[in-house]
Amino acid sequence: MNDQHPKVGRSSSPEAPVSPHLGTMASPSLGALSALLRKSQRLVITSHIQPDGDSIGSSLALAWGLEKLGKQVRILHPDSCPEKYRFLDPHGRIEVVREGAALDLAGADLGVLLDASDPARVGKLKEAFFKAPFPKVCIDHHVSSPRSEFLLHHACPKAAATASLVLQVLDLLQVSLEPAIASALFVGLSTDTGWFRYSNTSARVFREAARFIQAGADAEALFSQIYETFSLARIRLEGVVLERIHSEFGGSFLWSYLDRRTIEAVRVPLVEFDGLIDPLRTIRGGKIMALFYEIQPEVWKVSFRSRGEVDVEAIATRLGGGGHVKAAGCNVKGTLEAVEKVLRQEVAKALGT
Ligand code: 5GP
Ligand code: MN
Repeated sequence: MNDQHPKVGRSSSPEAPVSPHLGTMASPSLGALSALLRKSQRLVITSHIQPDGDSIGSSLALAWGLEKLGKQVRILHPDSCPEKYRFLDPHGRIEVVREGAALDLAGADLGVLLDASDPARVGKLKEAFFKAPFPKVCIDHHVSSPRSEFLLHHACPKAAATASLVLQVLDLLQVSLEPAIASALFVGLSTDTGWFRYSNTSARVFREAARFIQAGADAEALFSQIYETFSLARIRLEGVVLERIHSEFGGSFLWSYLDRRTIEAVRVPLVEFDGLIDPLRTIRGGKIMALFYEIQPEVWKVSFRSRGEVDVEAIATRLGGGGHVKAAGCNVKGTLEAVEKVLRQEVAKALGT
């Protein structure tokens, strides 16, 4: 999610008119990918762990669009949908796969990975999806080198959201936007641009948003569903994050943490942690923001955000993760003190101190 435009400032935003070819030179065109989707009949769509608005909205919109063309589509996700996005999927189209569950994917003829490229990001679905006999394609807007797992890999970091790429695919397939599809894509685009505030918010993004609104997305209702429906426990957890903010390197590095004990005590599921880091981004002088939370004993998920020029994708990638220049993540093993130490070293390098 979030603030992922690869460069800083509006001047670097893609301003080209809406066209099906946003891809970098390295990416095969979405045209070839769309042609493959058109030829396929039984598709499996998946996306990353800890799903966000873009992974959920893109998955549903692509599935509904393909169904309009008469295809059979299954959406399999490795983690459950955060409460704030459940309204998008009232009929439970997204199947959440349980650990160790037997999955019969033999009948499918194409697999589509959305909003991630690294197989590790598919969590417990990795084996079932990547070992399945069908060809796989990937539609993603994260920084990624081409991957041999995919017959076609469209990785386009210039796109503000995977939802933008799905819109292009649906345009190429001549699927018209209906309110449910438009709303799902609006959610992907609006949440990945921080509700049209981050530097990936270009004129193109507004043109796409206008199309979604024209087709029936209700921006005010969607905003309220996503940002005004938190549980009290989730808001209180934000309070814990705020209380524990550490400020280092003269206020350039701001970080906080949620350890196992705290997480177990508040009983807020991990999938609801999306957005907990956001207030850290709003502190004056901050250049690198990080939130560590202990997903398993001594395994910490680290979320990074940056403001200004710092590339947190480079830090996350060095630590085995990835993401975008301004929003990235990784897992680090060890005690809190050990994780802090690794992070401090990386941050010192990135800040040049
Ligand atoms: P978040 O901090 O919101 O979980 O993620 C920020 C961005 O970094 C998202 O675009 C997400 O896909 C990416 N990201 C987060 N964690 C990981 C990780 O462990 N590996 C990779 N490759 N990307 C990650
Ligand atoms: Mn995304």
